Amino acid sequence: MKKQNYSELISLKKKVGLLGSVSELLGWDQEVNMPPKAAEIRAQEQGVVAELHHQLFIDPKIGKLIKNAKKEKLTKKELANLNEIEYDYKKAKKIPSDLVVAFAHTSAKALEVWKEAREKNDFNSFTPWLNKTVKLNKKYAKIINKKRDPFEVVFEDYEKGINVKEVDVLFNKFKEEIVPLIEKITSIKKIKNNLSKKKIPVDKQKEISLYVAKLIGYDFSKGRLDESTHPFTSCYGRITTRYNEGWISAILSTIHEAGHGMYEHNLPIKHYGTPLGQSRSLSIHESQSRYYENHIGRSKEFWKKILNKVKKTYDINISLDEMYKLINIVEPSFIRVEADELTYSLHIILRYELEKDLINNRIKINEIPKIWNAKMKKYLGIVPKSDSVGCLQDVHWAMGGLGYFPTYTLGSMIAAQLNYKMKSEIPNYNKKIEKGDFKEINLWLNKNIHSLGCQYSTQELIKKATGEKLNVKYYINYLTEKFTKLYNL
Ligand SMILES: [Zn+2]
Repeated sequence: MKKQNYSELISLKKKVGLLGSVSELLGWDQEVNMPPKAAEIRAQEQGVVAELHHQLFIDPKIGKLIKNAKKEKLTKKELANLNEIEYDYKKAKKIPSDLVVAFAHTSAKALEVWKEAREKNDFNSFTPWLNKTVKLNKKYAKIINKKRDPFEVVFEDYEKGINVKEVDVLFNKFKEEIVPLIEKITSIKKIKNNLSKKKIPVDKQKEISLYVAKLIGYDFSKGRLDESTHPFTSCYGRITTRYNEGWISAILSTIHEAGHGMYEHNLPIKHYGTPLGQSRSLSIHESQSRYYENHIGRSKEFWKKILNKVKKTYDINISLDEMYKLINIVEPSFIRVEADELTYSLHIILRYELEKDLINNRIKINEIPKIWNAKMKKYLGIVPKSDSVGCLQDVHWAMGGLGYFPTYTLGSMIAAQLNYKMKSEIPNYNKKIEKGDFKEINLWLNKNIHSLGCQYSTQELIKKATGEKLNVKYYINYLTEKFTKLYNL
């Protein structure tokens, strides 16, 4: 029996997906190549593409095809594809265009105000705009589903396969175990090393970035590496990094983005533009970048492979042991993006708890600085000296995004679980990393994560790959073992 409706639906959905790619390409160019005075035209170009994309996707014809395709004899995979399309379609249909416009206008203005507020350390000037952003998020949540907790609804836009109750359990258990570990570490003598501050010329840093990306398996015939203010991955796995935050940060950023890039490169191309050819979720995406950044890029084995080349290129002198300590220094700090591996997730949990309370009216906007500082004290033992390095530091709220932050830490948790499983399944795992042999690791990730696209839900995917649902014990054990050893606790 022919699957006429399904086939037609898929070819339409592919067009929608490709228009999405065009939009990404415009965004990538804006960050990487675009001359400043082209910004105005670019904004118009983006607007037209976004509008076309939305119109094409909510076309009633798609709705009809979904309905009819359900009656066709579909394979499991096709059915998964259909269900994902239906989920997105129904959601997109519900959103009125005036809300989309309101979001765009508010975030454009909020961004401007936020930049100035951060510069001047003036939280009060940002409050009316944060208030608007929160209100719009509430309105959006109500339109999507008025019976549900609004935080659950906005969170689902980034991760629909792990629910908020599960996140609460994972994050609380993490806090319980890791906050005391951080306290222990910060109470002992600090590891000092100024080598990380050495200025390295950009061309030399580029050389090393290209080297490490290639070494771990990033395919330069599919992607490329450029520079941008904030590192990111888009456009079918193109990656960017930055060299002005220090040479260690540049190496780790490149590895992180290469992890994202390889996921994009290895999604099944024949399904490109449909859910089967798309990444599962932001948490799964982040698990790929965090796996490479933390479990490879911050491991002794990996540095054994690359250290000589780095030393020669950067003209520095350091032993492997010292280098390993240097990239793993634990030091509670105010700024999330500069945080070390151990303290990072506490920055995320703090934001997650605040956002949940904010959207559920449990706290008022003007209470944020006070609550922020109290949580910093409780989780990391430090209090920001100003809101600029406290609650005003991140761009996310100004951009209108609530519910995004948790995916960073969920990604780290998933990464630790995948790492544990790979260690048990891939013979001589550590030796392979020491030799810079990533063939089997990449094959494993490809088979168990990348090639599956959106065929399974997030939890199903984790279970299929590792034998169980997301379990925080792997992340806790990994961090505890690593830092207990490093700090001789
Ligand atoms: Zn990332």
